Amino acid sequence: MEVLLFFVWLGMCALVSAWASSKGRSEFKAFVIAFLLSPLVGFIVVAFLHNKKREERDANLARMTAEATGKATAEALAAVTQDGRPCPKCAETIKKAAVVCRYCGAEVEAAA
Ligand SMILES: [Zn+2]
Repeated sequence: MEVLLFFVWLGMCALVSAWASSKGRSEFKAFVIAFLLSPLVGFIVVAFLHNKKREERDANLARMTAEATGKATAEALAAVTQDGRPCPKCAETIKKAAVVCRYCGAEVEAAA
């Protein structure tokens, strides 16, 4: 009977460590905590742990978004510097060849 209880205890410890592992946490530490303090404490400890995997994924996503946004901004800037120039009167971007600003109607010198 006591042997059976021991195996149930071990099994629950294994569950706790597997759960910790799925959260990107140390399986071994979770197992030791569960084994020494009881699987219930182990479950509670793991439940309150931050999910490292999710945090890493969120950080990656944020970085990728920042990179993509930065690239888009750089491309927009390149398009403006290639085909356009700011109107000297209203500062809107107009075509280099334009002699009249399409925004404010001011006459501007055509750039090359
Ligand atoms: Zn203008």
